[in-house]
Parts: sequence; structure tokens; C-alpha cells
Amino acid sequence: MNCYEIETRLGAGVYAKQQLTIVRGSGATLWDEDGNTYIDCTSGHGVANFGHAHPRIAQAIADQANTLVTLFETFPNDKRAALMEKLLSLAPGFERVFFCNSGTESIEAAFKFARLSSGKTGIVAAMRGFHGRTLGSLSATWNKAYREPFEPLIPGFKHVPYNNIEALAAAVDENTAAVVLECVQGEGGVFPADPQYLQAARALCTEKAVLLIIDEIQTGFGRTGSIFCYQQFGILPDMVCCAKSLAGGLPMGAVLIGSALKNLTPGTHGSTFGGNPLACAAGGAALQVLQDENLPQQAREKGEYLMARIRAVDSPLIRDVRGMGLMIGIELKQKVAPYLRALQKRNILALNAGMTVIRLLPPLVISYEELDRVADALEEVLKEPLT
Ligand SMILES: *Cc1c(COP(=O)(O)O)cnc(C)c1O
Repeated sequence: MNCYEIETRLGAGVYAKQQLTIVRGSGATLWDEDGNTYIDCTSGHGVANFGHAHPRIAQAIADQANTLVTLFETFPNDKRAALMEKLLSLAPGFERVFFCNSGTESIEAAFKFARLSSGKTGIVAAMRGFHGRTLGSLSATWNKAYREPFEPLIPGFKHVPYNNIEALAAAVDENTAAVVLECVQGEGGVFPADPQYLQAARALCTEKAVLLIIDEIQTGFGRTGSIFCYQQFGILPDMVCCAKSLAGGLPMGAVLIGSALKNLTPGTHGSTFGGNPLACAAGGAALQVLQDENLPQQAREKGEYLMARIRAVDSPLIRDVRGMGLMIGIELKQKVAPYLRALQKRNILALNAGMTVIRLLPPLVISYEELDRVADALEEVLKEPLT
């Protein structure tokens, strides 16, 4: 079966397909249909934090699949109640949680909750920010290539320069319901926030009675060296949007909700699949793995190791190396596509973030031996300019 040919012919056409069919994974390793192995530095854009086919998560999914897959949230369930308690125990200061099925849905829910709670409609987001591709979250996303074909979008959205508190203060007005920010801009090029910026944004939102939404969809669950990235900045947001690795690879999103939120009454929002027992069982197992294997600390230590090795690469092509934990961006002075192809030839799968940034998001369980292979391959491909 030529999967590339079939998917290119029958898929909607909205993805640029690689000629590489992947059939299996374990830890940070992926196998193609011919049995070749690759080191996965994509983690499905940050989904596979706990590694592929983690035995404890796989077992929890299999057990729950044989027990109960679906149940609307009007009926309580043991796995869902347990996940609510577990998730909120990892985010002290939050009181409630809303479950959905993806990152963009968690952003949509947070925007609706902000409107319900405040009676206002405006949202201030950041330039280079990425929050998803459905119409509400797309209105907060910066990249014009994603936005413009679908305009008009939702009115009342503003974009301000990131890491610039004066610009944020100038944009917040009496119509602003919420500010939405990433702690490390992922798609936008792996740009970490300045701590003073997020702290000043928190103070500004408190002073103006505006809700602060932090998008942790990519940065959450250990990726940057703490369970949630905001925890390293000494701030408490009003809402935190989660998805990606939350349920160990199964589709799941969540909004963590703080005490400032009001008016979340029955019927105001909902989701058919949200909080289904299968995803909740996977999430419960995934969060237990996160803690038992000390994955935030592993991400911090491995990230420092890999970043130091990349910084030691003596290449005139590199403009900047930055990131937090195992969320690393290597900005080049030219387009990264040929370098990603060269890495793939050396059996390393990596991502871009924009045209000029190589983005590395390996599973947090990646071994030091694998990190060395990634660094060696980077050193080789960045030796001389490629086209
Ligand atoms: C991936 C991502 C989203 C969108 O998540 P989906 O599950 O693809 O809808 C939103 N925000 C950030 C920061 C992301 O990385």
C-alpha cells in the first residue's frame, strides 16, 4: 500500500505530506514501513511528551476501552472525577476544569468563559502568537497566512508586540474581556517571555479587571522544565488552556479555571466528547507518569544539555539558540527547509517554526545517547550552507 500516494490523492489537501510513512513508535523512536528508525524531535507538535506507546498509558487506554469509552458529562464518572482532582492538584490556585478535545477548543471555551464572566468582548493577543485554527482562536492567531483567507473573523481582537508591556497596557481598554499569551511562543519561533513582562501583564490585568489567559497547549506538562510553564514566572493566570500531551496522545483539551471566573452555569457551554472516560483514563495515567518519572526535571536537565551542545556548534549559519527545557529553537540566517530534509536523511525528524527556525520538541523520555545523535546530526548539517 502506497500510503503517500493514497493520502495525497484522497486527503483534503490541507497538509504538505512527507514521503515517509510511519507505522510504529516507542519512547522517542519512530519506525517507518520498511523498518528504518528515526529519532522523533517533533512529538506530533508536542503531543508525545511521555514518549510513544508508553506501557502504563497504553494499559490504561486498553483497560478503559474494555470498560467504558463514552459518557456525557451530565453523568459523573470515576475516571473523570479522578482526573479533575489530579489536574487541579498540579495547578495550585485553580478551582475548576472544563474538558474538551483539542487545543483550539480549549481556547474557544476560554474566550466564551471570558465573555460570560466579564460581560465584555475584546481580546488582546500577541504578534507571532498561535492559538489555533477555528474561527475564534484563529482571530487570536497572528500569522496572516492562516488568518486572511478566512476573514472576516471575530471582531474585537487586537494584536500587540510580545514582551512589550507598554504596548499591552495601551491596548487594554474598557471593552477588553481578556488577554491571551503564550509563556514561550511556539509556532511563532520559540520566543520565551521575559519574566518581568508576564509579571507586569498579570499586574495590569488585575488592576484593569481583565482576565489573563495563558495558552499552555504546547508548553504544558513538563515540556519547559515545570509542570506548567507559567509556574516558572511566579504568576497565577485566571485561565490556563491545555491540550496536546494532556492525555498521553489521545485527543483531549482542558481549561483550568481560577476564582475570578463567574457565571459558568449549566447550559452555557458543552462538548459531546469532552471528559469522555477513555481520554480521562489516559490523562490520569499520563499525569501519573509525568510525576513518577520526574519528567519536568528531566526536561530541564536534558534541555540544558542539548542546548549547551547546540550552542557549542561552530556554524556561521546559526543566528540564535533559545528555548526552555526541551522546547528549543535554532534560528538560522536562512530558510530551514533544506536542513530539516538533511536531518531526516540522518534519521532525525524535526520541526520548523516559521521559515528560519528549527524547532526541537522531543519526547521528554528521550535518552542522552539519542540527544547526542541529534546534536551530532545538527553539527553535520549546519557545517555548510544547503539549498
Ligand atoms: C497546537 C497549539 C494550539 C492548537 O491546538 P490544536 O489541538 O491543534 O487545536 C493552540 N495553541 C498553541 C500554543 C499550540 O501549540
